[in-house]
Amino acid sequence: MTYGFKIVEEMISGLSNWMDEKGHKDLDAITGRAVRNVTDWQYLDLEYIAKAKIDQDLCIKCGRCHIACEDTSHQAISKEKDGKRYFEVMNDECVGCNLCVNVCPVDDCIAMEALPVGTLDERTGRVVTGKYANWTSHPNNPMAKPAVEPAE
Ligand code: SF4
Ligand code: SF4
Repeated sequence: MTYGFKIVEEMISGLSNWMDEKGHKDLDAITGRAVRNVTDWQYLDLEYIAKAKIDQDLCIKCGRCHIACEDTSHQAISKEKDGKRYFEVMNDECVGCNLCVNVCPVDDCIAMEALPVGTLDERTGRVVTGKYANWTSHPNNPMAKPAVEPAE
């Protein structure tokens, strides 16, 4: 068996296990479900602000999140407290990119939490309005027009 074929077999078995776990009977049950979440980048809601939060009871202190954020994102996860390994998100740096969640080996250890309306975003110094806003109407956009909601 070639190595490439083995990888495909593992992907099939992984998908099959996942479908069993979630109770999906066949591929029709999941095909196309993510498509409705796809939009052009300029319509992403700039007023949706989320921050990563680490559950210290679940954290095994492997440091993957720190390295990923440090090297690839916004240097928003500290690695030490009182001389010991301790990983904590700095809300004044976190941009909510989700990278740390993807690299953490422990299920549900890092959660993305949306800032409620009226909360101060420590990173930007702005209060979350909850009012949909996107790049088409952003003040930094020289081609800005009045806000347009994406088509359903
Ligand atoms: S969401 Fe992104 S910026 Fe925030 S802590 Fe995780 S990796 Fe860093
Ligand atoms: S990747 Fe997850 S388990 Fe590892 S240090 Fe970060 S939060 Fe803890």
